[in-house]
Amino acid sequence: MDRLHVDTVIFGGGVTGLWTLDAVRRSGRSALLVEGHRLGGGQTIASQGILHSGLKYSLAGVLTGAAREAREMPLLWRRCLLGEAVPDLRGVTVSAEAFHLWGTQSAASKLGLFGAQLGLQVTPRTVPRAEYPTVLQSCPGAVYRVDEQVLSPQSLVTALAASQQDVMLQLDPATEVEFVLQSAGQVRQVRLHSARSGRTLQVEPQAVVLTAGKGNALLRTRLGLDARAMQLRPLHYVLVRGDLPEFHGHCIDFHKTRVSITSARDSRGRMVWQIGGQISEDGVKLDADSLIARAQLELAAVLPGIDLAGTEWTTCRIDRAEGATVGGARPDSYRLLHEGNVLTVWPTKLVLAPQVAQAVCAALPAGAGHSLQPLEQALAAWPRPSVALPAWEELRRWVPVPASPRRHAA
Ligand SMILES: Cc1cc2nc3c(=O)[nH]c(=O)nc-3n(C[C@H](O)[C@H](O)[C@H](O)COP(=O)(O)OP(=O)(O)OC[C@H]3O[C@@H](n4cnc5c(N)ncnc54)[C@H](O)[C@@H]3O)c2cc1C
Repeated sequence: MDRLHVDTVIFGGGVTGLWTLDAVRRSGRSALLVEGHRLGGGQTIASQGILHSGLKYSLAGVLTGAAREAREMPLLWRRCLLGEAVPDLRGVTVSAEAFHLWGTQSAASKLGLFGAQLGLQVTPRTVPRAEYPTVLQSCPGAVYRVDEQVLSPQSLVTALAASQQDVMLQLDPATEVEFVLQSAGQVRQVRLHSARSGRTLQVEPQAVVLTAGKGNALLRTRLGLDARAMQLRPLHYVLVRGDLPEFHGHCIDFHKTRVSITSARDSRGRMVWQIGGQISEDGVKLDADSLIARAQLELAAVLPGIDLAGTEWTTCRIDRAEGATVGGARPDSYRLLHEGNVLTVWPTKLVLAPQVAQAVCAALPAGAGHSLQPLEQALAAWPRPSVALPAWEELRRWVPVPASPRRHAA
């Protein structure tokens, strides 16, 4: 059995764990990340990758807590994406530099005022009709453009993981990870066993950080902590693939986003639209076929004139894992709990990952100055986690919409 002194052991390699790992190591502390399955395989790869500026949370014309937390974030991300701040995210695919907003006249007409009134860094600008994206050409109301970037989450996870391979392990949390506790929330040892390599490692960390999303509940139970600190908010979202234009936009209906559409190309070059927003919340109570039928009607309503012939549809269920709130509403910000030598975090939004990493570093004890070199040597033969695939690469059941005669003729 190898023995290691490590300042920090992080459990979970989604955006939070990976950003935190980078920040902790930059702060001079040694760190090890244990991923139970595939990197980003919880919410991160499923996310729409929108770097929210807070506007979405201010549609009632009030600067909400959520908007206040998010408003500084897009600028920080932009600097990382340009390689001007760390982590260097120049390898990340930016799918769009801006998002379109459209909706009912009453809701959309106020949007132009919001950004400035609420002190948001990123404010919506009116798009002249001649410059409407093709899919919005038949929309009767105003269209706005807001400089919220959209990232490919898979490329983000890949970029964040690239420089951390030497300190990441892929282990089955149920059978290959054991905790030795001094008391509830006070971890004395983490014993890691790799069935594949036959090796065992006994780690004595100063601190343990839980960034496992939904997996935090089980980890907390094993550490003698209350799993009820977490809440799950389910989503059931829709994917459409086929001959569609690239488009990124929110349709606003009063204070809500009726649909949020982001686009990506699959490995065979087909355009895929991911449809979130209110429809993915309402879809939780629907089965897949009913949600697909509802989504087809919804797209026809919010994008008049759209031709969906020949497209294929599927749906995906996923839970958002967050710090628990009274009544189960979305928390305004990330949640960080510090109990014993265990820190548990839920970012609430991908865009808040940098804030979470900073807060974790501030809460950690100063590093004990263990050299990183023996850590990297001891881990050389251990299994490494791969990056998860987006849902559209893995889902097998797609429901076709018959091709229109017009398209066949073409
Ligand atoms: C459909 C959807 C769309 C979204 N869109 C956006 C958006 O556009 N913009 C935005 O800002 N936010 C968005 N979000 C929210 C955002 O995705 C999440 O807040 C964020 O990705 C959470 O990251 P995380 O790293 O904390 O958790 P996760 O991404 O869930 O990662 C947890 C990781 O821990 C691993 N794990 C689980 N259990 C264990 C264990 N016991 N031991 C070790 N590892 C374990 C998992 O395999 C996974 O890799 C969206 C969320 C969803 C569901």
